[in-house]
Parts: sequence; structure tokens; C-alpha cells
Amino acid sequence: MNDFFIADEERIITPEYTGNDNDIETSLRPHALDEYVGQEKVKENLKIYIEAAKKRKESLDHVLLYGPPGLGKTTLAGIIANEMGVQIRVTSGPAIEKPGDLAALLTSLNDGDVLFIDEIHRLSRSIEEVLYPAMEDFALDIIIGKGPSARSIRLDLKRFTLIGATTRAGQLSAPMRDRFGVILRLELYSPEELARIVKRSANILNVGIDDDGALEVASRSRGTPRIANRLLKRARDYAEVMGDGVISVENAQNALARMEIDELGLDLVDRNLLTAMIENYNGGPVGLETISALIGEESVTIEDVYEPYLMQLGFLTRTPRGRKVTPLGYRHLGLTPPTEDGEQSTFKNY
Ligand code: ADP
Repeated sequence: MNDFFIADEERIITPEYTGNDNDIETSLRPHALDEYVGQEKVKENLKIYIEAAKKRKESLDHVLLYGPPGLGKTTLAGIIANEMGVQIRVTSGPAIEKPGDLAALLTSLNDGDVLFIDEIHRLSRSIEEVLYPAMEDFALDIIIGKGPSARSIRLDLKRFTLIGATTRAGQLSAPMRDRFGVILRLELYSPEELARIVKRSANILNVGIDDDGALEVASRSRGTPRIANRLLKRARDYAEVMGDGVISVENAQNALARMEIDELGLDLVDRNLLTAMIENYNGGPVGLETISALIGEESVTIEDVYEPYLMQLGFLTRTPRGRKVTPLGYRHLGLTPPTEDGEQSTFKNY
């Protein structure tokens, strides 16, 4: 049986990294700013900062990248290191458990090198304390000995660049945020930008795709390059087995319909979320924790993964009293939005 007919245990449209992405993600990563599609404002700013730092023969200021998962934060960190002509060390907040782990990483860096910390909002306070003098003065304060004879010595570090990535800038402590000279926010991509990414990836994967096929895959990718690349892989499987090997609109539509992804990229979980809010709370307002209990997903996942895209589509809004399904959201599900006086919606198939 072909594996693309089997529903994934993991959501195919989860923007988070899954082990299955491993085989293609490395080969599809752009290595230079000019290859990096979209995010024009971010690229423009970075170009200037990189050029200025190179001219002064200095390390780049510390950079904080934030935005939903799968938008290219790790990729951008690698590109920054490439453009600066330095090495990059990659780690993540939860991986740094003890101050000694961080000290070992920091002392291994050469002048100008990049230390990339993914999920930087998950660093513990004690690790943050070690990071502050490192970011500010390029120094490590190390305590030697115990009890009354303990003393602190200062160890000089090379001038490195810290690049932090987070999906939740709001959870970063204020002193941490203040130590970044450059703060850049990545936005969801437009279907046209994603279509360019899909065509670039298809080229690398050596698979034929026409313009409309690329746009079809792109339109269902929730504004997220990681999802676009994953859907491309599935459409390729379909085109190779069921078609002539070239991804056309038709092949793309058939492949994605089998995965129950609709024309806007919503899957069963998105539709369940909206439907549960409508059926149980007349469309809202509903608190985040209640939605989480209704659909059995963690509230963090709802905030990071589902909401940004549903809000971008205009299907969901946030109000001070909770989340609400918009009339557009009702209509996408084939339902009639309630009228101002709170009349119940009707299900199309009832
Ligand atoms: P994040 O770190 O934000 O979760 P990644 O940097 O790991 O996201 O990106 C996920 C995948 O999406 C990468 O393998 C890369 O190929 C692709 N990608 C991300 N942004 C772009 C872009 N702007 N242009 C082309 N490909 C991109």
C-alpha cells in the first residue's frame, strides 16, 4: 500500500519539525539571503546590519527572531552565519540544562561565531543569569570552590553573536529581550511566495511541477514553508504513482484531498475547533482553556499553531472575553452565521 493514502499519526500540516522532515529539510534549506524567499523587510534590515558589521570587522549584534514555527528562523540563522563567513553552533533552550553546558558552548566559540538557541524562551533563569554577562561583556563569571572559600573569577569570551529564536516573544523575560540589538518578526508567507518556495524545492528534488500546481500546493500550506515542502513531497508521491510524474493542479488537488486538507489548508482539527466552538458556545466568545478541553489539544499548541492561521484567514478573532468564530468562519464550514439577536446557526446538512 502507498503510504500517502494513510492518514498521518502526526498532523501532516503541523508546522513544527517532525522526524519525517529530516530527509528533505537539510537539502531544501536556502544558504544565502538572496535564495531566501519573502520576508522582504527582515531581509532588507539584515543585509544592512550584516554589511555594516563586516565593514567594521565586528561581530553582528545579537539577533532575536520570532514568529510561528516553520517560517524559517533556523534557516535564517544559518544564512546569517554564512553571510558573515563564520561558524554556527546550534542548540535549544531545553537542551541547555546546567550552567556548565552553556559555559562549554560559549568557550568553544571563535571570534564572530554564531550561537543559535532555538526556543530561547525555555531557558531556565539560572542559565539566563550566565548568558547576560556573556551577551553584554563577552565574559563568563565562574564560581570556584564551595562555601566561605568560594570565589568568582571572570573568563573572557570571544565576541560571538547570539541568535535566539522563539515562537513566543511575550514569554521571554524583559532583561533577556533587552539584550538583543536586533529584533525581527517573521510573518506568515503569501501563497505567491510559498509557490516560489515550492518551485525552488521541486527543482532541488528533481520533480516536475507547473505554475498552477505550485500555487495549489502553496495555497494549502497555511503560510508556512515547512508545510509547503511537506505537502510537495506528498504531491510528488501521488504524481509519480497515479499520474505522469508532473505535479499539476489536478494531481495536487487529488493528493491533498486524500489527506483531508481543504482548499485553504484547513484539516480536520481546524474544522473541529471551529465546529466545537459553534456547537457548544454558539461561536463564542470562548476562553482558550475551554477550547483546549473541547478539542483535546494543549492551549500552547492552539495559540502557536491553529490560531495564527485561522486568524489570518479571518475565521477567528480574539476579544477580551475569548475567541470568536467570525461569519466568514461559519460560511467556510457551510453554516449560516448567527444574526445580531443571537439566533442559532443552522448546519447545512441538518
Ligand atoms: P523554523 O526554525 O522557523 O521552525 P526552519 O528554518 O526550520 O523554520 O524552516 C523550515 C523549512 O522551511 C526549511 O527546511 C526550509 O527549507 C524552508 N524555508 C523556510 N523559510 C524559507 C524561505 N524563506 N525560503 C525558502 N525556504 C524556506
